[in-house]
Amino acid sequence: MRQLPLTSPASHAVFRRILSHGPTGRVDIARATGLSQAAVTKAVTPLLDAGFVVAGEAAAQAVGRPISPLSVAAGRAHVIGVKVTSDHTYGVLTGLDARIVARAERALSSSNVTEVVAAVTAVVDELRDSSPTPVEGVGVAVSGDVDRIGGVVRDSPLLRWHDIALADLIENATGLAAEVENDVRALTVTEQMFGAGRNATSFALVTIGAGIGCGLSFGETILTGAHGVSGELGHIPLADDDTLCSCGRTGCVEAVASTDAVLSRIRAGHDDENLTSADAFRLAHAEDPIARSAFERAGEVIGSALATLANLFGPELIVISGENVTEYGLYERCVRDAFARHAFGAAQNCEIVLRPHVFDDWARGAATCVIESIARGRST
Ligand SMILES: [Zn+2]
Repeated sequence: MRQLPLTSPASHAVFRRILSHGPTGRVDIARATGLSQAAVTKAVTPLLDAGFVVAGEAAAQAVGRPISPLSVAAGRAHVIGVKVTSDHTYGVLTGLDARIVARAERALSSSNVTEVVAAVTAVVDELRDSSPTPVEGVGVAVSGDVDRIGGVVRDSPLLRWHDIALADLIENATGLAAEVENDVRALTVTEQMFGAGRNATSFALVTIGAGIGCGLSFGETILTGAHGVSGELGHIPLADDDTLCSCGRTGCVEAVASTDAVLSRIRAGHDDENLTSADAFRLAHAEDPIARSAFERAGEVIGSALATLANLFGPELIVISGENVTEYGLYERCVRDAFARHAFGAAQNCEIVLRPHVFDDWARGAATCVIESIARGRST
């Protein structure tokens, strides 16, 4: 049902390279994919003929070279990504370059599966109406243990879902090819294809927010774990054993380092349950000792967790992301000190970069999964 003429492994490799690195010349594509220039031309010709890839003047100017570089015609097809939380569905329509073209959302009164599917369908219908081209597919991102290949949400504590065949339900309701993915892994796919991981052979994406998530990318593969679990950085027991985690265990990184954990500690210290995140940031900037200590403790545990990550997996790059990482300066020194103390040998060379994100990026991650599937030639 997809419109793109991607029929061979070579055409997938070429299309993906142009998607991630375009505008790009045929020589560069051949070098990056290991194909001959003739094979690149053969692979790209049907895409050029169908208008999904363009060559020429505009693209040449963008790279400043008198060649005929190739770009993906981002507006030639569109996809939809939806992020489901416990009380909302947020959707975005994007072109093939994952740039957001339109947004839609619906509130949820519960995380009942039927209600969520209806809300996702309403979001999809609204976005389809504003799409300039037929929509190629819909991706849905949720937190928890998700089997992307099977299209099943195996366990989402936040939504209280177990073994929900969500991709089938969305496909039946919308008539679009659908896929589901864990939200942090979906964000990792975005960074891998379009972001900080575009030029890295391996990287880890660490999200700091209400929870602590981690996606691990090696080449074009995201580690999913043989049992569906991988990169659970938030539940490594590196903290003191005195704080209960949302997972029911104690001593987890998340139990002291999530934004909720930091806020709880400051609230308890000030005996004020009404303190907001903004209050917490303000107190910490004003050198309030309780707030400073809560952020520093979080920073130390995060730094130890990042060192553990670097020691175990050796990624080229660690990308720290989250809606509040603009306040990362409150504990950056503690993170870096703890990282330097615990990173083993050359693991200290692992670069740590910040990448603040906005809430739409979760839905955009789901859209990117569909784009990635198109580039891979998956039927859904
Ligand atoms: Zn935990």
